Amino acid sequence: MQKRVPSPGFALYFPYPIMTNLIDLTFHELEALIISLDEPPYRARQVWQWLWQKGCRDVAAMTDVSKSLRARLAEVATIIWPKVAREQVSADGTVKFLLALPDGEAVECVLIPERDHYTACLSTQVGCAMGCAFCATGMLGFRRNMTPGEMLGQVLVARWYLLDRGEPLLLRNLVFMGMGEPLLNYENLVQTLEALHHPQGLDFSSRRITISTAGVERHLLDLGRSGLCSLAISLHAPTQALRETIMPGAARLPLPELIALLAQYPLKPRERLTFEYLLLDGVNDSVEDARELVRLLSRLKAKVNLIAYNATPGLPYRPPSPERMFAFQETLKAKGLTTTLRKSKGADIAAACGQLRGECGDLGD
Ligand code: SAH
Ligand code: SF4
Repeated sequence: MQKRVPSPGFALYFPYPIMTNLIDLTFHELEALIISLDEPPYRARQVWQWLWQKGCRDVAAMTDVSKSLRARLAEVATIIWPKVAREQVSADGTVKFLLALPDGEAVECVLIPERDHYTACLSTQVGCAMGCAFCATGMLGFRRNMTPGEMLGQVLVARWYLLDRGEPLLLRNLVFMGMGEPLLNYENLVQTLEALHHPQGLDFSSRRITISTAGVERHLLDLGRSGLCSLAISLHAPTQALRETIMPGAARLPLPELIALLAQYPLKPRERLTFEYLLLDGVNDSVEDARELVRLLSRLKAKVNLIAYNATPGLPYRPPSPERMFAFQETLKAKGLTTTLRKSKGADIAAACGQLRGECGDLGD
């Protein structure tokens, strides 16, 4: 189990004046804190609703909570959301937030408009250790895990961005496809998912949450058994040899072993595993690659999301021509594999998948 990274906001068991950030706590930790302040445990529900349903950022503003509890709570705890250091809006309505974290690190989070709702794309780590050759986040290397409050803070920022603007469409779907590898921050991820599901909180259903992983053995099946979300696997190569060249970190789990593991992944009736396959011109996009992919997935209940590569400065990859992408997709379809070709949004503001860097240097401009 990965250790939760202490942030200046997470200090329940440390002496004051280091304050607990209330959004970093599980419901039970909040209850324990309230009991430790000689208040009845049922007050935790009230405070939880203020945090998650009312977006409260000041303990003093929790008006239906007794004055004595507010005063005691304010001595030991605070509410800190990630700070929006920059906000960029794409021509297609996609919004990218650069979020400053309390220790000076920064991450990005993206809000994507869909036909009848919004989807938020969330980060789980500052940087990433997996080193995929095509990914902007991978170029940064790993800096640290995000805390639950930092991951959830992205949802709060995105939700209140929409509410403050009177936007009629709601934030309905969450995809953990921003910076970082979610399964390498597992303990914090599970706490985050549990908080998202809480009926007195944000109340997201598991069908509305997707975790994307490059394929890490540890915790993959645990996540399936938890039933907390759907899974997407970043495959991007149909053979171990090719995967080793473009996804060196992920390829430490050999492809046959990844597939064997996924064959055990608990699926609900009619549910399928989603595989993401990034199309890189001249690298993994031939008709032979498509046939290889069909063979690889033949024994799984699978569907494939093809994604055209978003060019990233400093990296040598390019998206294939539309004809090549079409030929690849047709080969999969002809073999009966369900396939979609996903169009990226927000490319003009580098908000599309894999273009997220969260550079601290960005904070200055
Ligand atoms: N680490 C996890 C989740 C974050 S990456 C994972 O790899 O699945 C989210 C998705 O963006 C992955 O499928 C990743 O391969 C893809 N991606 C990375 N760089 C990209 C780029 N430049 N263009 C399009 N997709 C990219
Ligand atoms: Fe990490 Fe995912 Fe980027 Fe690979 S694609 S470097 S796993 S964030």
